[in-house]
Amino acid sequence: MMGAVVFLIVVVAALYALTQVGGVITLLFVAAALFLAYRRRSLLAFTVTSTALLAAYTVLGATGTPALLWKLFLWLSLAGLWLLNVRALRKALITRPFMKEYLRLLPPMSQTEKEALEAGTVWWDGELFTGAPRWEKLLAARPPQLSAAEAAFLDGPCEELCRMLNDWNITHERADLPPHVWEFLKTRGFFAMIIPKKYGGLEFSAYAHSCVLVKISSRSATASSTVAVPNSLGPAELLLHYGTEEQKNYYLPRLARGEEVPCFALTGPRAGSDAASIPDTGIVSRGIWQGREVLGLKLNFSKRYITLAPVATVIGLAFRMFDPERLLGERTDIGITCALIPRNTPGVSIGRRHFPLNIPFQNGPICGKDVFVPLDFIIGGPAMAGNGWRMLVEQLSVGRCISLPSNTTGAAKAGVWATGAYARIRTQFNLPVGRFEGVETVIARMAGLTYTMDAARSVTAGAIDGGEKPSVPSAMLKYHVTEMGRQVANDAMDIHGGKGIMLGPHNYLGRGYEIVPVAITVEGANLLTRNLIIFGQGAIRCHPFVLREMNAARNPDRTAGVDEFDRALFAHIGFTLSNAVRSFIMALTHARFTRAPVQGATARYYQHVVRFSASFAFAVDVAMLSLGGYLKKKEGLSARLGDVLSCMYLASMVLKHHENQGRQEEDLPVIEWACRNLLYHAQEQLHGFLRNFPNRPLAAVLRALIFPRGRIYSAPGDRLGRSVAALVTTPSDTRQRFGEHVYRALEPGNPLALLEEALQLAVQLEPLEKRIRVEGIKAGKVSALDLPGRIQQALSAGIISETEAAALRDYDRKVMDIVNVDDFEPHELARQAEPAARSSVHVA
Ligand SMILES: Cc1cc2nc3c(=O)[nH]c(=O)nc-3n(C[C@H](O)[C@H](O)[C@H](O)COP(=O)(O)OP(=O)(O)OC[C@H]3O[C@@H](n4cnc5c(N)ncnc54)[C@H](O)[C@@H]3O)c2cc1C
Repeated sequence: MMGAVVFLIVVVAALYALTQVGGVITLLFVAAALFLAYRRRSLLAFTVTSTALLAAYTVLGATGTPALLWKLFLWLSLAGLWLLNVRALRKALITRPFMKEYLRLLPPMSQTEKEALEAGTVWWDGELFTGAPRWEKLLAARPPQLSAAEAAFLDGPCEELCRMLNDWNITHERADLPPHVWEFLKTRGFFAMIIPKKYGGLEFSAYAHSCVLVKISSRSATASSTVAVPNSLGPAELLLHYGTEEQKNYYLPRLARGEEVPCFALTGPRAGSDAASIPDTGIVSRGIWQGREVLGLKLNFSKRYITLAPVATVIGLAFRMFDPERLLGERTDIGITCALIPRNTPGVSIGRRHFPLNIPFQNGPICGKDVFVPLDFIIGGPAMAGNGWRMLVEQLSVGRCISLPSNTTGAAKAGVWATGAYARIRTQFNLPVGRFEGVETVIARMAGLTYTMDAARSVTAGAIDGGEKPSVPSAMLKYHVTEMGRQVANDAMDIHGGKGIMLGPHNYLGRGYEIVPVAITVEGANLLTRNLIIFGQGAIRCHPFVLREMNAARNPDRTAGVDEFDRALFAHIGFTLSNAVRSFIMALTHARFTRAPVQGATARYYQHVVRFSASFAFAVDVAMLSLGGYLKKKEGLSARLGDVLSCMYLASMVLKHHENQGRQEEDLPVIEWACRNLLYHAQEQLHGFLRNFPNRPLAAVLRALIFPRGRIYSAPGDRLGRSVAALVTTPSDTRQRFGEHVYRALEPGNPLALLEEALQLAVQLEPLEKRIRVEGIKAGKVSALDLPGRIQQALSAGIISETEAAALRDYDRKVMDIVNVDDFEPHELARQAEPAARSSVHVA
């Protein structure tokens, strides 16, 4: 409404202005200013254009004293603009005093924070901060592909592993993987996907690594968690990047052969999310190692929640290193350090297990009391002492893009695959449940979110293979993919009803549902990741000017610092003004005239991403300028900005994935659902940001420039939901693509394959069921209440043949095998505790 009134006033003013010479020139000036700002032309171009227009106005415009005074005022203002083009003058008059004040307000940054901010690379996330992302950069990237060896591993050992996994036996009866599975994992390279071939590893691409996890997690969460950890942040990864040659040559072949099982211990009872505050210590001291006195570390630590700890043979340990006696140099507080500690080192207590929500992958506490190890046990040797935090954050930027996003996507793909089929074969009220609109909406959400997750994990893995270490996307993927996974798991449970709830060998959903909080919590708990990390890191890391300005202001070479600060500052001002204009114009036009890099059905989504990118970049600058460091404390605001950034990133991944898959026409409803959902969410979060922005007048200005026509972008509708649901509840190419890398070999113990088989039969036999309904039930010849009875009556009445009856009976048996749940004798469920067993609470 407000937008319409403003628009009307502008039109009336413009019409009136067109009747006056001054008005025409003013309109030309406004149009030129908007054009130049939209196209990001230089200050000089703007100054020259303004001079030409003012000259025209001076000659052609009104005469008389007031007009002359007005012209004089305009020329003086223009002179000021010309002065801004003289860099030496502007540096002295504006930049230098401003930089002094800026430096005073700049919060101090510890080395740890600096290292965290500088870790990894800036990729597509950086483009989204510009307000004018260069799509060529994203679209030119090669689609991720598996090599022949990687494809053979997925089809060979990986399928074989899946066949060996009996999840009920693992999760309920044994609370562990069986010994032959452990052996298979160790000896077939599952723990060595990131280790180079020269050390005996598989040296897989990030994409292949991700696909292996997708497949295993479609079968067993316990197995996929077990495989994910040694290939993620931990001893192998740290050794590869920072280890000494001697350490690499010793450990990497042993890890590759499965002779060593690694774990990585950072978290403790007192330091969880705030991992940099670990109280565990390593004191430089002299001690006896293998009979000789050497310089080493005396370690005291208490860690918990450590995956693989109970079975680990080597512990990657993070601790804080001190040198109180200055045995190594002048520094006494050396900082966070990582070392490799063999399990059997005296003083190490290890072996007890935690029980993570019925998903019994190996996880437990580790303690160390006065554990003495030589300095050479530090990863990278004594030279790397104190560099532990940098090592961890650098490696997290890659690992976080792969492990959890892949495991969660695998589970979601299996969930869509299973639920699509189940919703077709399960009938209630004489209809497949998937045909009810309420259920269709939920299936569509599952499919749209899963497509988004799959796109994000595969395109980002492809970027890693192209050399990126995308630290901000890694946080976005960690948070959004696991949250989407949580939604998909809930939806799958809802659609399966009691079938999903009754645990037992026939339940293929329950454990996937139970593991959700684990994915939410590990590798940076989600609340922290959303509220503090995504935008907090993104705002400084990806913004085209903020880090440049900060580094320039802190440059000890003052002259060079002022010079660089001046360039960055004025470019930044132009950038903000340009984004304000771009945001306003694209919001007014609903981005219809924005350039899109492709033609066809998806072009509009590219345009909307660009529009939101401009609005986002503008909002970010205004927020940082007006709130400064307070923005970090206003977690609600920065979380919403982080959501907008993530939604644009994920929508871009969806679009790129669609291109990578050869622009499959049939997938378009899913692409539309995914993009609509993300861009609608971006709009709502931007609106939520404005509603909660503390400076209300500024919020009103922002709202006028970002939403001049209100919030007109709409969420996916019911009709779209129906089209999406149809694609996964019937055998279709889209459904097959959802099933890619899911374990679906047709065998008695694989519910995903049995569901697909039943779905195919359901579609094939639909005409027979229809015949029985029309010629039998409606004609009064068939009155039985269940399918077997109806088949018999239809056969007797000659409505179906003997062969057709047999096919229907076979189908019904298969469906009931899937629909049936387990029951147990009461004693079968109770597990007796060993008399010697005791519970313990570990207190640090
Ligand atoms: C199954 C499992 C396996 C694990 N494996 C390992 C492993 O192998 N090695 C290892 O070192 N660690 C491991 N962890 C530890 C894991 O990384 C931590 O659990 C995680 O970092 C969170 O710490 P916390 O559980 O102590 O939660 P807390 O730090 O106590 O956090 C509690 C809540 O507060 C939120 N929060 C905290 N600070 C903020 C903030 N500033 N803004 C907003 N929200 C905030 C968190 O998001 C969380 O929701 C594992 C944990 C689990 C559960």
